[in-house]
Order: sequence, then structure tokens, then C-alpha cells
Amino acid sequence: MTIIDIIRKKRDGAPLSDAEIQGFVAGVTEGTIADYQAAALLMAICIRGMDARETATLTEAMVHSGIRLDLSRFGDRAVDKHSTGGVGDKTSIIIAPAAAACGAIVPMMSGRGLGHTGGTLDKLESIPGFRTALAVDEMLQVLDATGCALIGQTRRIAPADRVLYSLRDVTATVESLPLICASIMSKKIAEGVRGLVLDVKTGRGAVLRDVAEARALARVMVDTGTRDGLRTEALITRMDVPLGRAVGNALEVVECLEVLHGGGPEDLVDLSELLAARMLVLAGVTASEDDARTRVRAVLKDGRALSTLRRTVAAQGGDPRVVDDPSLLPVASKTHSITATRDGYVSELHADSLGRASSLLGAGRVRVDDTIDPAAGIMLWRKPGEPVRAGDAVLELHYNDGARLAEADVLAREAIVIADEPPPHVSNVIDRITAA
Ligand code: URA
Repeated sequence: MTIIDIIRKKRDGAPLSDAEIQGFVAGVTEGTIADYQAAALLMAICIRGMDARETATLTEAMVHSGIRLDLSRFGDRAVDKHSTGGVGDKTSIIIAPAAAACGAIVPMMSGRGLGHTGGTLDKLESIPGFRTALAVDEMLQVLDATGCALIGQTRRIAPADRVLYSLRDVTATVESLPLICASIMSKKIAEGVRGLVLDVKTGRGAVLRDVAEARALARVMVDTGTRDGLRTEALITRMDVPLGRAVGNALEVVECLEVLHGGGPEDLVDLSELLAARMLVLAGVTASEDDARTRVRAVLKDGRALSTLRRTVAAQGGDPRVVDDPSLLPVASKTHSITATRDGYVSELHADSLGRASSLLGAGRVRVDDTIDPAAGIMLWRKPGEPVRAGDAVLELHYNDGARLAEADVLAREAIVIADEPPPHVSNVIDRITAA
């Protein structure tokens, strides 16, 4: 069968055989399948779906597209966390050094922006000099030295995901349960961790909006990890409103530094503490979630997590002074405020529109080879539940290139809903999914 036959077969709704899926992944990895053919098959999968066997085969083939790291010398302490993607979702940059400062080993392998959602690698690369493309030996040295490394898919670890991820970003093929499962789980299995906490987001700013779909994705990923010997669990969390007050790349790093200095917005601190605490429990640092949270809170307050990040930034070629002086990060030359049109309470801030608006300002990509503007993004000066007067700034758009400012402005205005009463307070955590 040629790749054209495989695309046609999936386009017409038939399940692919194991050999066809393995052939596709091998072709993508070796570069013998053209990007346009891979993108066509991704679209067919996105529309037609994959059954459980196909999803497992795809994940397995993507793991085997590269090497599987051996982190056995760290035992259960090697753990990671991964999010399915959201807007303002910057917890990785807080959690990795916090969990490492508490005794876990975190070889965090992240992605770039995907669709309207931001990516940890793009955020980290706003730190001058910071390199996310580390060779395996280098990454292991960073892990030994600091307890956490912050890297991307490499030519050796999950290389198939490196290709497919960047194609999905620009071909509207992000929203697919089997593709998300294979993308995330292949990286996490290949990086060799023993425990994994998944943050499966749901809501209008998430990749899968519907809570039932998020649950199904969480179940498939938890089962996949468990089958592979990883202690895996998932939290289903809300993503209707951006997390924290910053959306963008450098803007989000600044907010992470605030948290690592013991401050930061409550929703971001709360979720970061919980996710890091679950990592500590899976790592066997402590059996009690309450105790784990207390430990995480302590390292966020006393500067130990910050010091771990400082050392990791330096070890990965970044300027460590940034950690104490965020003014060294790129800053946009222009800002544009969006103000409240009436008195009341902010009741909604639509994360999907704000993610798209931020991308139009330069924070995301439209083509695979686009370079992003690290300084572009949006500050949320009011969040749902907070009072506003007509004329108060609710959002502030940061940009250097105003070519698409008008479109971003429309999206940002549409994102704001003001009501007479504050919305009811709801917890960000909807559910927990553990091994069956
Ligand atoms: N994160 C990933 O690594 N892959 C996805 O498909 C979604 C989020």
C-alpha cells in the first residue's frame, strides 16, 4: 500500500492496520512521506477518528520512532506532568522546578504553541539564550545537576511527534483524541519517567471543549500509561478563562517568576500546587497529598523552587539573571487597552478568543516556519468575579507588529462579558481519573 492508499482508506472511514500505521510513522520519521501527505492523513484521522487498537498502535509506533530513555537510576522519583493545552497555561514552568526542589526528578518534555493554545517551549525561549533542543547526554547532565530539565521533542526522543505536532499546529488537526493521546503519551513514555500527572483541560479554551470528551481522553491516556508501567493519573480541569493574568510568551514567564517569588494569581498558584503535589505523591516523596502540598508551598515561598529554575536556566544556556530581573525579558513596544463598556462584574473572559487574539498579535504561528514574537500577548487586568466601571481597562494587548491588531481587537472585545452580578465561584478541578 502506498501512503496515498492509506490516506484514502482513512478518508473513507476504514480502520488502518498496524502495519499501515507503523509504515506511516516510520515514513514521517525518516522524511520519506511528504508533509502534505502526512497532513492529509492527519486530517482524515481528525475527521474519521481511530479505534482503541489504532490509537494504541499509533502511540507505540511514535514511542519507537526514537529511543526510550533509561532513567531507572532515579527509581520512582522520575516523574512528569503534561497538559492537553490551554490559554495562559504556564504551570509547567512553575511545577518542574518546584517538584524538583522537593526531591522529584523532572525531565519535562514539552511542546510549542498548538492551535490557539500556548506552548511551554515558546515561553521558555523568550528567556535570552535558553536552549530547549538539548542532546540526550546534555539533558541527563542538567537532570543530574538541577533535578529538572525543560526540553522539546528531539531527533532521538519521540521524533515522529516533532514532525506531526508542528503539522497539526498549522492544519487545524489539533482537536483529535487519538492524535492528542499518541502525541502526549509517546513523549512521556519515551522520556523514561515512572509517574505522570495529566492535566486534561476542558471548556471553550481547551483543545477538547466537551467534558465527556475530556474524560474519554483522560481515560485513554491513563490506561495507555498504566499499560506501559507508568503510574499515571489525570485531573480534568476547567479552561473557559485563561489561567492567571498573562497570555503570551515572555508575559507568561514573568507571571511564573511572580509565583516562584511567592506571589502570583490565586488560580495559577492553586493549580500549580495541586499538580506538583500529585507529582510528589507519584514519585513516592510522600504518601499524603496534604503533606505534598505543604512541601510545594514551602519551596515556592522560601525561594528553593526559584533557585532550582535559576540553575536550570543557566544549565540550558539561558541568562539566569532573568529569574531575579524579569525586565531582561523581551517587552513589546506598543500596548492597546480594551476597556469595559459598562459598570458591573466581569462574568466571562473567553479563553479561545483570547488565545486567537494573542496569536494574531504574534505570539503563535500560522505557518510551520513562522517565527513568533516573544513579547506579544495579552494582560488580563480584570478576571471573572471582579468588579469594573465603564472605561476601566479589562485587557491590554501587547504587540510590536500591528498588522493584525484590528482583528485581535475584535476578538478581544468579543471575549469580555460583563454582568450585573459576579458569576458563582467554581473549582477549577472537575474530576480525577486514576488507573482502572
Ligand atoms: N500536548 C501535546 O504534546 N500534544 C497534543 O496533541 C496536545 C497537547
